[in-house]
Amino acid sequence: MGKDTIEIIAAEAKQANMMDYEQARKEFDWSDVEQRFSWHKTGKLNLAYEAIDRHATSALKDKIALHYSDPQRDESYTFEQLRRESNKAANMLRKLGIGKGDRVFIFMPRTPELYFTLLGIIKIGAIAGPLFEAFMETAVRDRLQDSGAVAIVTTPKLVGRVPEAELPELKHIIVYGDESELAEHHIHLGHAMAEASDEAEIEWVDGEDGLILHYTSGSTGKPKGVYHVHRAMLQHEYTGRIVLDLQPDDVYWCTADPGWVTGTSYGIFAPWLNGATNVIRGGRFSPQDWYETIQRYNVTVWYSAPTAFRMLMGAGDEAVQQYDLSSLRHVLSVGEPLNPEVIRWGYRVYKQRIHDTWWMTETGAQLICNYPRMDMRPGSMGRPLPGIEAAILDDQGNELPPLRMGNLAIKTPWPSIMRKIWNNPAKYEEYMRIDGWYISGDSAYMDEDGYFWFQGRIDDVINTSGERVGPFEVESKLVEHPAVAEAGVIGKPDPVRGEVIKAFISLREGYEASDELKQEITRFVKEGLSAHAAPREIEFKDKLPKTRSGKIMRRVLKAWELELPTGDLSTLED
Ligand code: ATP
Ligand code: MG
Repeated sequence: MGKDTIEIIAAEAKQANMMDYEQARKEFDWSDVEQRFSWHKTGKLNLAYEAIDRHATSALKDKIALHYSDPQRDESYTFEQLRRESNKAANMLRKLGIGKGDRVFIFMPRTPELYFTLLGIIKIGAIAGPLFEAFMETAVRDRLQDSGAVAIVTTPKLVGRVPEAELPELKHIIVYGDESELAEHHIHLGHAMAEASDEAEIEWVDGEDGLILHYTSGSTGKPKGVYHVHRAMLQHEYTGRIVLDLQPDDVYWCTADPGWVTGTSYGIFAPWLNGATNVIRGGRFSPQDWYETIQRYNVTVWYSAPTAFRMLMGAGDEAVQQYDLSSLRHVLSVGEPLNPEVIRWGYRVYKQRIHDTWWMTETGAQLICNYPRMDMRPGSMGRPLPGIEAAILDDQGNELPPLRMGNLAIKTPWPSIMRKIWNNPAKYEEYMRIDGWYISGDSAYMDEDGYFWFQGRIDDVINTSGERVGPFEVESKLVEHPAVAEAGVIGKPDPVRGEVIKAFISLREGYEASDELKQEITRFVKEGLSAHAAPREIEFKDKLPKTRSGKIMRRVLKAWELELPTGDLSTLED
């Protein structure tokens, strides 16, 4: 990491207060978090009740819970309105005989109806299965088959990708949109909801009952069905409070789609459990559109991803200057390593430090973060939150000392940890193979002050001439070069060195691929990082292969390089 970054940011940041942090860790108790929920007193538990209905019967009743807009629609809903709309969805599903434990999938673009339905599913104790709208038929079929879904809510445009004939367990297809396009056996969501009462009985559940089934992003292989339970709300509420730092007047925007875990844990649960006003913007990504969204709603807290920040950076400073983004007070990132160069840029143009947060579909909520009450370190994921214990373990489960790269592991349990991988107990056991620990599959080290530094996926760590090199460090140096938009780094087998480093690079607009540029970039890494970490080979690509959630797929780069099969591509971007 460049020294300048630390200087720029440390000058502004509060002094690291280790005492506070240690004290907060000592005092932390999950049972204090429990007391913040109404079930603590009533014994009646349901996440959707806590997120919506509880506020609808409080002073927040008429507060805006949801600002929704896309190029066609522009609507706002209070907590009370959300309570009623989600009740209608709950009643509609109940009328079909759907109930507790049933898997109900949602396969549609972001619209208010997606949110009503998802809350309705949870209200009746069924398990929600969100699917990203860009999935093609095979991806949809695999997930519905694996989970034994009984119903799916979709649109006329997407329903053609639901292969009914191959899904004997799928009993109901509910379609939202133009009714002239409906098949006879399809249920029209609009009509069914219009007929349904807006008062509904909540299905009270056990904290360990199923809430949501999320299939992972597919960066490293076939997506897994990760099963979460209602008790996860403890951690959604807690992290919304201390990491997102949600305050009563905040207007919060999480840019993730609910097809991915960030879009539910932090696009739905955390903000609403904290009674925050939540912005949802439908439609496609465009820098102008995003900045306008912030300006229009006076967004104060903004949660996005490195891929988006890199694209915004690529759009240039001029794009930022056309908008008033002064409402922003807290910016966060998740999903991939956050390059220091991106933080440096964000600090310059948004006057905000972008706070990195680390977690996974399987962990259900944030675990290691840079959060407001502690000093952040650019390039580091931050420190484990109070209530969470993390360590770097070797393959035998021994804790490694600071600065040694190894398996990033978390002490079990914590409230939002997955309870199983659907239909795949063996996979679940792999994460739990070391007694008392959850093995994340990520490689990292811890510094002397307890900050964790991401190195790469375990399988992506490169072994070159006896040195272990994390691809993230090399990629971050590469994107500091003015010509480089994005970089993906892999180890390429080499008879002498074991592996050599190969970089795939997409260039920023205005730059031409050439051998001179390759040499210049190599020199840049050699001088800025180290000789052994400099790529031996560079290949320019118009675009890097990414998942639909925006992560660079290094396994695809590797497969291309080695001419091997690419594996499951159901989540590969077009
Ligand atoms: P799959 O498990 O199907 O291969 P995936 O791991 O990309 O896909 P997710 O659960 O969406 O699916 O992503 C979690 C992973 O994303 C983490 O294991 C980590 O590698 C990466 N990640 C998330 N946040 C960060 C972060 N702040 N810094 C570095 N990496 C991160
Ligand atoms: Mg994963």
